[in-house]
Amino acid sequence: MRRHKTSRGLGVTRRDFFKNAGVGLVAAELTGASPGAAAAVPATASVRFTPQGGLTQISPNLYVLRDTCNVYVLKDGNRAVLIDFGSGHVLNLLGQIGVTRVEAILHTHHHRDQGQGDARAVAERIPILVPQHERYLFEDAENFWRNRRVFELYYVKNDFFTMTHDVPVAGILRDYDTYRWGPNELLIYPTPGHTLGSISLIGAVDGKKVAFTGDLIHSPGKVVNLYELQYNYGSTDGVDYAIYSLTKVREQGPELVCPSHGEAFSSPEAGITDLIQKLRGWVALYDPSATLTVDNKPYAVTPHLIASYQTTSSSYAIISDSGKALFVDYGAASNNFCTTYITATSVHDRMGFVEHTLDELRARHGLKSVDVAMPSHMHDDHLNGFPHLARHHGTKVWCYENMVDVLQNPHGYNLGCILGEPIKIDRSFRHGDTFKWEEFEFQVFHSPGHTEYQMVLFSTIDGARVAFTGDAFFPRGDASGTLRHNLIFRNWVENDSHVKSIRTILEHEPNVVAPGHGKPFLSNRADLEGLKGRLENQQKYFFDAIADPDCNFGLNPSWVRLYPYQLQAKAGSTAALELRVRNYRSNPMRIEAGLVLPPGWKASPDVLELTVSPRGDASGGFSVAIPENWDKAKPRVAIAADVRADGQYLGQIAEGVADVRFSS
Ligand SMILES: [Zn+2]
Ligand SMILES: [Zn+2]
Ligand SMILES: [Zn+2]
Repeated sequence: MRRHKTSRGLGVTRRDFFKNAGVGLVAAELTGASPGAAAAVPATASVRFTPQGGLTQISPNLYVLRDTCNVYVLKDGNRAVLIDFGSGHVLNLLGQIGVTRVEAILHTHHHRDQGQGDARAVAERIPILVPQHERYLFEDAENFWRNRRVFELYYVKNDFFTMTHDVPVAGILRDYDTYRWGPNELLIYPTPGHTLGSISLIGAVDGKKVAFTGDLIHSPGKVVNLYELQYNYGSTDGVDYAIYSLTKVREQGPELVCPSHGEAFSSPEAGITDLIQKLRGWVALYDPSATLTVDNKPYAVTPHLIASYQTTSSSYAIISDSGKALFVDYGAASNNFCTTYITATSVHDRMGFVEHTLDELRARHGLKSVDVAMPSHMHDDHLNGFPHLARHHGTKVWCYENMVDVLQNPHGYNLGCILGEPIKIDRSFRHGDTFKWEEFEFQVFHSPGHTEYQMVLFSTIDGARVAFTGDAFFPRGDASGTLRHNLIFRNWVENDSHVKSIRTILEHEPNVVAPGHGKPFLSNRADLEGLKGRLENQQKYFFDAIADPDCNFGLNPSWVRLYPYQLQAKAGSTAALELRVRNYRSNPMRIEAGLVLPPGWKASPDVLELTVSPRGDASGGFSVAIPENWDKAKPRVAIAADVRADGQYLGQIAEGVADVRFSS
């Protein structure tokens, strides 16, 4: 909210404006925003010039200023919200249309031209709201610059257009939520393309459905540039995103498009279609083998089992005669929508997600609701859509028991491919449990190997005995016709993990294997036996190659670990941290451990002592006191555990990080 300040001796016109708008002298001085003072602007200012022209009225309560980007003013009486901010010059003009209060700035994306004047808004205490997935590019911009690679550059995305200074953020615009203000309700619609976290704001303004689309489209049939549409070296990845987003915005049926550059234009359908055609044409010319996410289509494996295999991970919908569905996995819309997001995700956040496949399932396969979703395993590429299903479709999440804590407390673990957003679990199953859902019966088993946190799910669907196997194995895809497995040590692997999994699957003799990537295939006992033989051989290699005869110590980096791995705590608080140990010896193991902390932090006890039973697990607790006056410039620090096992000093073999929050 705007705080009123006293003006101290500006020229009459400006003082009258600032009095009206409640904008103070201090801010104008801070940012060099005074139009008459351009020549005297200090080089540290983020705004040095003034745009020409003034506010243009589009409809009774909608105005635009052509600044470094288009700044849209949505007005309700004497108050307004702004969509993007440009240089901030708009604040000098709002008095002319009777606006005395700016209640928020809504950014469509993080580029400098959208908000290089944001420091002025901060000084005026105008709340700045930013897209969920670009928050870090505003409030942590300086850290972004410290870490942005310039040499050996292959990730060529133009995030070089990020703000040069941190911008304090008052709140986020969360994908698919609604922003409500005055008479307006704006749907926050993810429209990646020009940037990965870009949003459009779509809703009725003065009786017309308006889409504020940022830089998704410039004008009918045109983009503002193509170079923003390439993230990875030589790829068409951003064009794929843009085509997807343009298609989705067109489905929303806006009557007026308000772009960040170019003029607002009515009846946009033909202009959007024209741009999609041009972008498609260019992709087809440049890379004829490229597939577009928007063209992905699920297909019926059997009447009640629908597979989406072009999505990043294969997603399966078991659709009951009632129209309810049980999903096994629901990840990203395509490989591109997974891998490119991963690279661009802040270390504290989750990767972006756009809804996909549901419209097709409704239109062609009788889907009425997504009742339940089950992850084959805990990897982000398989469950990135679960929070969306739960929040916007009322879907319940069920899983194998050992995934419950990983999904509900993702900060607890350091494993491959964890989604950085907690997922609430409604029901869990143990090894061998059976359950009935609608007209189908299921059986759940633990299926480690690819990761410790994986199940195999069996069900008979339309007469076929189907095994949902996650990433346990895949067809090799060559003439041999055999199966291949995979091994990621960070995913918690023990020497017999893969062998346990393949034995369970063989015992239950599926006819159809529904894997976590690619299309379902007919199960062939000889191939499964062949894989089992190779996995038993692999186990021998583990014992042969690893120095410790209890070779799991050489396979699992997390046998001693701190929980939570990413501790979240406030400065001045005392937080609980656990040391967890799995003992791979056939004798009891005696562990002594002390924490190694940043200066001024205190741990209790000083040394923790544990006895871990043979082949068993144990844990013990520390409390960690964080100083009240901890340095705000160090919000994330590393912590280690210094360990002695059975009298042998192993050193700092376990670690974690602490994210310190400050109440400012
Ligand atoms: Zn832009
Ligand atoms: Zn996986
Ligand atoms: Zn996978």
